[in-house]
Amino acid sequence: MNLGRDESKFDVVIVGGGPVGATLGALLRHAPAGRAPRVLLLERALPSAEAAPTPDLRVFALSRASERILRAVGGWDALVAEPAAMVAYERMHVWPMRGRPRGEGALSFDAAELGESDLGHIVTNTALQRAALAAFQAAGGAVQQGTVQRLEFLDGCVRLHGSSGVVNAALLVGADGGRSVVREQAGLGLESEDYGQLALVANVRSEQPHEHTAWQRFLGEGTLALLPLASGESSIVWSVPRARALALLALSAEEFSAELTAASDGVLGVLQLASERLQFPLRRTSAVHYVRERCALVGDAAHSVHPLAGQGVNLGFLDAAALAETLAAGRSSGEDPGALRLLRRYERWRKSENESLSLALSLLNRFLAFGDGELGRFAERGMGWVGRSAALRRPFAERALGLSGELPQVARRA
Ligand SMILES: Cc1cc2nc3c(=O)[nH]c(=O)nc-3n(C[C@H](O)[C@H](O)[C@H](O)COP(=O)(O)OP(=O)(O)OC[C@H]3O[C@@H](n4cnc5c(N)ncnc54)[C@H](O)[C@@H]3O)c2cc1C
Repeated sequence: MNLGRDESKFDVVIVGGGPVGATLGALLRHAPAGRAPRVLLLERALPSAEAAPTPDLRVFALSRASERILRAVGGWDALVAEPAAMVAYERMHVWPMRGRPRGEGALSFDAAELGESDLGHIVTNTALQRAALAAFQAAGGAVQQGTVQRLEFLDGCVRLHGSSGVVNAALLVGADGGRSVVREQAGLGLESEDYGQLALVANVRSEQPHEHTAWQRFLGEGTLALLPLASGESSIVWSVPRARALALLALSAEEFSAELTAASDGVLGVLQLASERLQFPLRRTSAVHYVRERCALVGDAAHSVHPLAGQGVNLGFLDAAALAETLAAGRSSGEDPGALRLLRRYERWRKSENESLSLALSLLNRFLAFGDGELGRFAERGMGWVGRSAALRRPFAERALGLSGELPQVARRA
């Protein structure tokens, strides 16, 4: 349904121009000529077009599925054009507290062994957001800076009262992150579990080269990930209980670096803090409903998961592609994009996939990151068994590449 040419009427309004919202907009606009919906994206804080003078400390491990989605809308080329912001990683080693990085009990993946060019890419948040926004605008999407203040669900449309005026839409999408105003105002509800942990994020220099490898150690008191950066430094995501995290933040740079080197098992030699330290409280959340008549949620607005497997934004990209595919199918059969019957197809598709992965990550956190006692040792032994068998490793590799589950068309192998 097109609401007409009135400048304040759109088929779809997306609140939140983070990586997921902007990519959804680009996917919607990439419909066959003449059939693309009118899409407005409302973003509170648009990134500057220029690369920032200081490095962006927020980085993501992007899966192959996310890469395919970005390629389909032209966003990948913009990332490739920023070589300082993206690097491929070719190997991954995960090991338990009582194991060694490449030894007995570790779980290792190698792109060459899997017949892949790489296992994924590490990319900065702002470069990803800029690339997705550029792809959306290049496809004719409209971007407005502002926030949403109030929603009115009317007969036949939803009305947004925002900081820059009033707009009507056949469908409103909340892509406004973990503290989603759309989710709250649309009454979609939230289930939430506090992990009681903080993730500490920083860039570090290492004595030995990172070898384009992602490293992750289960610590018995959380997890430590070292992700390779294009600069040769590595990005750390160190998730530990809140009190321990606050104690680490209170240390001098030298003391912090020494603790970090010990926690990393010396896998890259001596590590030295090379940036400020950011902290992120960790919660597992899931919206009670992803949809209602005229409204849908995607990305962190719908769910947030433990970062230990670097899956959050990748799940959001799959949400975006699944919603775009559902709406395209609805358009072909003349359905209203805001109709609950249509939106429920998207919810059925994505909610169960996201919830089962979120539960699996919580179990990994419970039994491997914090595992002690018999169950913890059993989980460690299980990891060792998987590590020793190429056949058992394959499904885990498929999951890491984002290629398992019911994939949207655009994320499948060409
Ligand atoms: C420590 C840590 C490490 C992580 N590492 C990884 C990783 O390696 N791989 C991975 O896949 N995921 C990772 N994640 C998860 C990832 O950060 C999130 O899943 C991802 O940022 C979600 O993207 P999004 O676009 O849904 O939301 P966001 O990135 O939060 O974007 C939301 C956007 O909405 C805008 N907005 C908010 N409210 C409003 C409003 N009222 N009006 C207008 N605009 C609004 C915001 O300005 C923002 O631009 C990690 C998370 C943490 C905490």
